[in-house]
Amino acid sequence: MQQDHDIIIIGGGMVGAALAARLGKSGRRVALIERGAPPKAAEGDYDLRISSLNKRSLEFIEASGAQLPLERTAAFRHIEVWNQEGTGHSLFSARDSDLEQFGLFIENIALQYALWQRLENMPSVTLYTDTTLVATLASGRGRTVELDNGKTLSAELVVGADGANSKLRELAGIDIATHDYRQRAMIINVETALPQQDVSWQCFTPTGPLAMLPLPGHRASLVWYDEPNAIQAREALDDDALMDAIEAAFPKRLGSITRVVARASFPIKRQHARSYTAKRLALMGDAAHVVHPLAGQGLNIGLHDADTLAEQILKHVDAGDASALQHYEWHRRLANQAMIAATDGFHHLFTGAKPLRQLGDLSLHLAERLPLAKRLMMRQANGLNPFKWR
Ligand SMILES: Cc1cc2nc3c(=O)[nH]c(=O)nc-3n(C[C@H](O)[C@H](O)[C@H](O)COP(=O)(O)OP(=O)(O)OC[C@H]3O[C@@H](n4cnc5c(N)ncnc54)[C@H](O)[C@@H]3O)c2cc1C
Repeated sequence: MQQDHDIIIIGGGMVGAALAARLGKSGRRVALIERGAPPKAAEGDYDLRISSLNKRSLEFIEASGAQLPLERTAAFRHIEVWNQEGTGHSLFSARDSDLEQFGLFIENIALQYALWQRLENMPSVTLYTDTTLVATLASGRGRTVELDNGKTLSAELVVGADGANSKLRELAGIDIATHDYRQRAMIINVETALPQQDVSWQCFTPTGPLAMLPLPGHRASLVWYDEPNAIQAREALDDDALMDAIEAAFPKRLGSITRVVARASFPIKRQHARSYTAKRLALMGDAAHVVHPLAGQGLNIGLHDADTLAEQILKHVDAGDASALQHYEWHRRLANQAMIAATDGFHHLFTGAKPLRQLGDLSLHLAERLPLAKRLMMRQANGLNPFKWR
């Protein structure tokens, strides 16, 4: 029986829209279901939700033909990490990994908008907005989804890119392993007296890291990790008092703050679906895994899921081919499990008990003194084969 679409994607966030654009470019008949309205272009003050895109993610987005608003992005060529209470310090430079840059910082909304602009011009892609999934059923060579607007659609494969609280995952009965770090991240967009450079830095403290993600010109996105009570107290401060608190806690190299543009805070948790696939169904992005954001890899690994899944789908006539789904699950689960373990390790090494923190300090010393180890780590973090020389 002919299905309505080849692939139905639930969730038009950055990961779902990127998969839709890649498949649409190859002429696959895609339906993208988004519970919200289409995204709007980023303009004026920078949005709070910023992400880094590494080399593999950028290449995947480029392959779909989406045009990123480069004037609103900041390229970074260096990553600097140090320990506030010890002497461990490590500087990673893109050129040491044969890269021109590590990647770009971009507002989530700007990336999502660029992808949706591309989708709107793809004849094989149908966009359904302001509607949500209520039921799904696998039958024969396809799977149906029922939407709250009364429509029922069918496809060879249904993909869940509907975020950490995925409805598709719940309807498919896929369980998750979850861990609460009992930490919050306060994101503060600021303007600074000093222009921010092409370096992203992170300073580990016993209560959590302090991070600076550069934005164009005299702007930065600060991430302040701490215990929930401490974050709540900071959220109650007015802008002047918050500027004083930032200047007192953050490294001096940030320079003075001239304006607090926006702020919000998020709980930090880890989550991993027990399976990424079921009959004619696949999960990807935050629907499959949520990692500690300290390494800035959550979106990147979601886009790598989309890249691997697209490659498998495009290799087969039937988008829901069982061996393709098996290949996807095997490759991505292993890679994502490694990233979860690495970010978890960093968290415990720098915010755990004192002996662990001393070990963390030592690991920064070692990373700095072993150029080969540094190179392998950075290539891995960029989604590249760490063992390929050029
Ligand atoms: C504080 C913080 C900082 C971070 N910084 C970085 C970083 O620097 N680099 C990085 O790589 N990652 C970072 N991340 C992680 C990154 O933001 C996420 O991994 C990424 O947003 C996941 O994208 P997604 O498309 O999978 O999910 P989402 O962005 O959650 O998108 C899901 C989409 O599905 C839609 N949806 C949900 N349910 C339904 C439904 N039932 N029906 C239809 N549509 C639905 C939603 O409206 C949404 O559009 C950070 C996360 C946090 C919390």
